[in-house]
Amino acid sequence: MQDKLNLMIPGPTPVPENVLSSMSKHPIGHRSGDFQKIVQTTTAQLKWLHQTTADVLTITGSGTAAMEAGIINTLSRGDQVICGDNGKFGERWVKVSKAYGLDVKVIKADWGNPLDPNQFKRILEEDTDKKIKAVILTHSETSTGVINDLKSINNEIKKHGKAISIVDCVTSLGACNIPMDEWGIDVIASGSQKGYMIPPGLSFVAMSKRAWEAYDLSDLPKFYLDLKQYLKAVNKNSNPFTPAINLYFALEASLTMMQQEGLNNIFKRHARHQKATQEGIKAMGLNLFTNEGFGSPAITAVAPENIDAESIRKTIKNDFDILLAGGQDHLKGQIFRIGHLGFVNDRDIISVISALESTLDKMGKLDVPIGRGIAKTISVLNKD
Ligand SMILES: *Cc1c(COP(=O)(O)O)cnc(C)c1O
Repeated sequence: MQDKLNLMIPGPTPVPENVLSSMSKHPIGHRSGDFQKIVQTTTAQLKWLHQTTADVLTITGSGTAAMEAGIINTLSRGDQVICGDNGKFGERWVKVSKAYGLDVKVIKADWGNPLDPNQFKRILEEDTDKKIKAVILTHSETSTGVINDLKSINNEIKKHGKAISIVDCVTSLGACNIPMDEWGIDVIASGSQKGYMIPPGLSFVAMSKRAWEAYDLSDLPKFYLDLKQYLKAVNKNSNPFTPAINLYFALEASLTMMQQEGLNNIFKRHARHQKATQEGIKAMGLNLFTNEGFGSPAITAVAPENIDAESIRKTIKNDFDILLAGGQDHLKGQIFRIGHLGFVNDRDIISVISALESTLDKMGKLDVPIGRGIAKTISVLNKD
């Protein structure tokens, strides 16, 4: 049915009506006083979202631009870095690092498992010469629905004393608690089409004081993504280039909505939806791909046994206009992923679990009496 599609993929995520309408006007001049006001407001709001007093800079570009900016603004050719890799986005960090000639040591975990903080601890403790310049990882690994233990890993980085942390928080920021200052994270990358509830096109890099110290030593080439240019501009409530002005309208509208809801309420909502989704799935006899306790608050990956995950996903799209994400690479056909990130309410969760249960029934693959899954989801929502 036309215009009825419900996006339940982990980005782009649904956009609230008032955020959409905030964009439907002529752009304004990016050197105008009106635009400066928006930069001033959104910069303060971004600091609020990151729970930081550090600089948060806005780039016109997708999330990967923010990731790349984090690397090229803090590191130099040949620098030793550790990359955590337990999925597609961990792999991307390795690729970006290698593209810039960094000396990459990879800490891996199998797809579906979290990174082991002890492995970081061991390698960082062994580095008595303090050669390691950065530890680079993904917080919420969107490809597998795993949340990595950022707090513990970052603690090990702080104990090392020299390495900085560079973290992809693209699907965790705005979904769970990431107190940048309290945890002492140095660089956080995020993107607009995820927890921010706005269309793709903007990305964000938060830079701690230590990250700026690293900037001064960094020799990697940079121009469009040179963050010092963004810092100088933002200090004058401006942007070094022509930014996606209408997306700034959206950013202000969405961050204002988020502030009205409050950080803790946002985190609670995501945790509750995650639990209601997971419990419903288990109750209808399906397996979660991720081990208990390591599920991302943004996305749940499901690994149905003896059923092609793609055929479930396609049926839900055709029959219910709900778009789910498939598995990537070797997981194609093995898993499907339900996004519950951003502008999501109880209705969305009840719809997707019901649609899934109905689909399994239609396919003759429901092994429990019909209604078990949705009953469980409803009871979790009503209890929590
Ligand atoms: C979406 C996403 C990104 C950013 O991807 P872009 O397509 O460049 O916006 C990065 N990391 C993770 C974990 C993501 O989910």
